[in-house]
Amino acid sequence: MVRRIRLFGEDILRQRAKPVKAIDASVRRLIDDLVETMEDAEGLGLAATQIGVAKRVFVARDGDQILAFVNPTIVARHGREVGLEGCLSLPGLQGNVPRAKEITIRALDRAGRTISHTFTGLAARCCQHEYDHLNGVMYVDHTKDLFWLEAAAERVDLPEDDETSDHWVDEGGQSIQIVRVPTDIREITDYYAELIADLDLDAAGEHLLAEDDGTAPATDEVTEDISG
Ligand SMILES: [Zn+2]
Repeated sequence: MVRRIRLFGEDILRQRAKPVKAIDASVRRLIDDLVETMEDAEGLGLAATQIGVAKRVFVARDGDQILAFVNPTIVARHGREVGLEGCLSLPGLQGNVPRAKEITIRALDRAGRTISHTFTGLAARCCQHEYDHLNGVMYVDHTKDLFWLEAAAERVDLPEDDETSDHWVDEGGQSIQIVRVPTDIREITDYYAELIADLDLDAAGEHLLAEDDGTAPATDEVTEDISG
């Protein structure tokens, strides 16, 4: 089931998630929900706290496959590199964040087997980002180099296969150039507080849906594929 992704400013995102005691049907369902919600939002990774569950579980993409990590521990970190990061709980925002270049992570998989993976590059960054979520830490805590992604005021037609400039493709198939507008944590806090205030939620913290469509309200925020 696709769940509502909690936004920066909601309490659950600052909680330290609790270890999973046994991998039972409810944990496997949680993993399924994480995968479905992440795919729906086109993210790279998603932690349980982001869908309102304070358990130490996250999912992350590694190339074509999606891995589930239960009770993960990062057992080794090497090197350091600064790179772009986004978060599904902070739609429309990105930042440059320092992370270890290579990590080794140990966890249980959905069958309860112990797994150990060494990751570099984007997968390493993603796992560190998701692991942080389980401790109530978010990427904006690690950097002041933060900016909104906004559509350029003047729309330029970019070739469809343009790989060189920063752009996304809108619903009409038009390429729109992205501009980065620097921001700070105060502005960010205010922005998401307003979004949260406008949410219409049921007792479980999910969207109250319009009867006819069955989908979450559309957002016009940009999420790029570096979001977790
Ligand atoms: Zn995140």
